[in-house]
Amino acid sequence: MYPKSRFLRVQCNDCENEQIIFGSGSTAVECVVCGKKLAEPTGGKSIIRSKILEVLQ
Ligand SMILES: [Zn+2]
Repeated sequence: MYPKSRFLRVQCNDCENEQIIFGSGSTAVECVVCGKKLAEPTGGKSIIRSKILEVLQ
């Protein structure tokens, strides 16, 4: 559910912008277009709050 150590291609739920984020980042990631939080850190894992389109190896 919460991939670690992977780059993820995600799509913002609000504006449908696609962007690449890191699945185990320790900082919140915001959409570059609308500023919605796409992922936020919780205890070492990122909670992804956007649609995961692809997990990149
Ligand atoms: Zn957005």
